[in-house]
Amino acid sequence: MKSVLDKRRLSASDAADLYGVPTWNGGYFQIGAGGLMEVVTGERERVPLPDIIAELRERGVSLPLILRFPQILENRLERLNRAFAEAREKFGYESHYQGVFPIKVNQRRVVVETLAEAGARFRTGVEAGSKAELALCLVQDIHPEALLCCNGFKDDDFIRLALWGRRLGKNVVITLEKFTELARVLRISEEMGIRPALGLRYKLHAQGSGQWEDSGGDRAKFGLSTSEMLSVTQSLRERGMLDTLVMVHCHVGSQVTDIRKIRTAVREAAQTYVELRELGVEIRYLNVGGGLAVDYDGSKTSFYASANYGLQEYADTVVYTVLETCQQASVPHPVLVSESGRALTAHHALLVLPVIDVVGPTKTAVTLPPLEGEPHTLVADMRELLETLSVKNYREVFYDAASNKDTMHSLFDLGYLSITERAHVEELYNRILAKIARIIRDLDYVPDDFEDLPKLLADKYICNFSLFQSLPDHWAIGALFPIVPLSRLDEPPTRDATLVDITCDSDGKIEKFIDLRDVKATLRLHEVRKGEPYYLGVFLMGAYQDVLANAHNLFGRVNEAHVRVSEDGFTVERIVNGQKARRVIENMGYEAPQLRAWLFEEAEEARAEGRLSAEEAEALVATYNAELVGYTYLEDI
Ligand SMILES: *Cc1c(COP(=O)(O)O)cnc(C)c1O
Repeated sequence: MKSVLDKRRLSASDAADLYGVPTWNGGYFQIGAGGLMEVVTGERERVPLPDIIAELRERGVSLPLILRFPQILENRLERLNRAFAEAREKFGYESHYQGVFPIKVNQRRVVVETLAEAGARFRTGVEAGSKAELALCLVQDIHPEALLCCNGFKDDDFIRLALWGRRLGKNVVITLEKFTELARVLRISEEMGIRPALGLRYKLHAQGSGQWEDSGGDRAKFGLSTSEMLSVTQSLRERGMLDTLVMVHCHVGSQVTDIRKIRTAVREAAQTYVELRELGVEIRYLNVGGGLAVDYDGSKTSFYASANYGLQEYADTVVYTVLETCQQASVPHPVLVSESGRALTAHHALLVLPVIDVVGPTKTAVTLPPLEGEPHTLVADMRELLETLSVKNYREVFYDAASNKDTMHSLFDLGYLSITERAHVEELYNRILAKIARIIRDLDYVPDDFEDLPKLLADKYICNFSLFQSLPDHWAIGALFPIVPLSRLDEPPTRDATLVDITCDSDGKIEKFIDLRDVKATLRLHEVRKGEPYYLGVFLMGAYQDVLANAHNLFGRVNEAHVRVSEDGFTVERIVNGQKARRVIENMGYEAPQLRAWLFEEAEEARAEGRLSAEEAEALVATYNAELVGYTYLEDI
């Protein structure tokens, strides 16, 4: 790898290795001709991402932006269903699979509608966790047998709406998340004269693995205990409503990285199903919840950003475990339901970030004022260290330079060193470190003391975006996403970089990057050329990131484009404008006309007092008004 990077050109396969593309791409992205990153939606359907961006720029769409590929959503859905179909066939499972899309993972219109529409042939349903989500789910055009699951805590209106849904001809199932919900559902259903279909969510004893371990286990927030479950069954039996209980539901957590945890949870769920059947409850659906993980770093391990299994192993595990459990007890096989959200949506979207500047200890093009007369011995010593530095003595030089730097600070504080001399020592120190970094980059073994050096010396690539708006999970829980330059992938990248956003928050940075063995502290990038845009793609961000965002510093939703790829190119199906400043500001309780009026008054006053000319006042008001309708990100940069 290292020697490859020294060459003038980089082959597509070396570039792919460097950024791990084949390991995480799901088959949807590749490095193509001319070193351009391509999206791939079929055997002969591929398009360089920079071509799409160029077209959007021509149409006046500003960056940052999100590119969405509905075809990838359709393909994920197809692959998940195909995996279950294959598993059923392989093991002789006697019922079918019908998934449910939990819309909390991404409620964007195009996502929900694409999955609902494309899901009709698989009887794919939707899952709502709140009244607002139910409002969206009720109007989706899903297959009549597809499930509409109502999870989450519920009030009267939530339940009323869910019951009306049954009258609309939807297969609505109300999941009881806590024991007291039963009384509420029974009361409202009697008032309305509509019989419910009920699901029981129970507290799994089994726990997942990774970030959401606590979604399962006895301390879980949702679900009924075993005794509560039996009590619900008893109540329903007494009322002659046992037949309304149609689903057992559990959820072991999201991004469960270890297939063994899935197997244990499904085993427990299947056994619960069997037991309820034996008590005479004719449960029809066994819902194993979410948890199907996405391999963000491509390592195929149980590391939190990965998964030690794929779609087929997941389907095989669910199908086989349920089948085995049912066979032992001779009960009929239930319809299998999963609420896989992350695995359906992560791949379909990517964020395009323009790099707008590069700063760093070795990057600033400073010209130091020359030193007068004989240089201070410290300066002379540092110059000599820099000149004699080689692979043979880099360790000694490193410690000598560090010690000189300490001395420099002491001397400066005591007034024995001028500010110009200090600047020279600092600059020489940075150059020495940079040279050492270049030396150790080519070594097979790097001593521990030097491991942090690349990070210390890394350039900061300033990108026009807000981490809090666009990648909230990286900030909140350290989620990792593959990041790759979208062009020049045939050129060896020569800089080690970290990324920073344009918010004023020092947390607005990315210093952790995917790696097959570990997590990398820096990302290898190209030197940015003047006058030539340099775009980074953040991939696999279609699950959760789109909808958990916050408007820190009042950076709003970014522009997005929905793109369909064909053999002859691509079509931009839709451009959805990001939020204008006015929208974000009004969310904070201000009103734009009022703000304008206030600004106008201020300008008038300044004009009356002679601080502004009439033209200046006019220009100020015009700029202010334009800002209110502008994109919240940097535009002419
Ligand atoms: C969040 C959630 C899901 C989605 O989980 P993924 O891991 O994204 O598939 C499914 N079911 C329930 C109950 C959830 O809370």
